[in-house]
Order: sequence, then C-alpha cells, then structure tokens
Amino acid sequence: MGLTRLDQLYRQVILDEAYHPRHHGKLAKPTHEITVRNPSCGDVLTLQLQVSDGKVVDAAFAGSGCTISQASGSLMTDRIIGETPQSVLDLVGQFSELVIEGEVADEDALGDAAILKGVHQFPARVKCATLAWKAAAQALTKGAEHD
Ligand code: ZN
Repeated sequence: MGLTRLDQLYRQVILDEAYHPRHHGKLAKPTHEITVRNPSCGDVLTLQLQVSDGKVVDAAFAGSGCTISQASGSLMTDRIIGETPQSVLDLVGQFSELVIEGEVADEDALGDAAILKGVHQFPARVKCATLAWKAAAQALTKGAEHD
C-alpha cells in the first residue's frame, strides 16, 4: 500500500512551504491590508502588501489555517513580489483555474505555486488553496468586496 493521493499532496506541499513559510509575519510599511476567511475550513489569513512605483515590492501573510492555506500563502506572496498589480490579478485568475480545473494555459507563469495543482482532485480544499490569492486580488482592488 502506498500513500493516498491526499497524503502525497500534503507531503509535497508541507515539506517546504507550510512548515517554513516564506513572507510570514508583518510588514513595516504596508499600503494594503485585508483579512479573509474560509468558513468551510476555518482558515483565517491577513495579507499585507506594499505597493510602490506600480509594483508589489513586498508582501507578508499571517493568520491560522490548514496546511494547504498556509502553503498557498507562502507560495502566493513569494510569486507576486516584483509584479504589477495587473499582473497579480492575472496570476490570481490563472491560479484559480489551475486548482479548479487541474490545468491552465500558462502553468509555468505560476512558478512554484503550480505545485498546488493537485488540489483540483479535492474540491473541498480548493477554497483553502485560493484563499491567499483572492486576498491579494481583493486588497489590490481596494476593498471592493468584503469577506
Ligand atoms: Zn483550509
């Protein structure tokens, strides 16, 4: 008997991201901040962004939640630093498509975050994976939506 697919997915993402998340904590000078929740799992995530000269120059997340949500927060923040807000919105759309459909036209654009594509096999966990990304989109569109 091998590992279940869920075990394999967890093992894959746990190792680097959830136990040693990048960009976890608070920024000194955030320009955007938002807190989002995923009631179906209990994940709570606060995202801070620093946007300067038309780019996301820094990002950090804090909060509590499942392994998938924490790993996704780490991967998301690491991916969007250096991008323009419009590029971030594009990436959010591509990431959502990847974890819902299991494939997306330009998977390479997502970098390490593409590791979470296996989430598409577990529809109940898709919201865990997309939480941090939706937070980024909401923060950059200036509170157009509430959680
Ligand atoms: Zn979760």
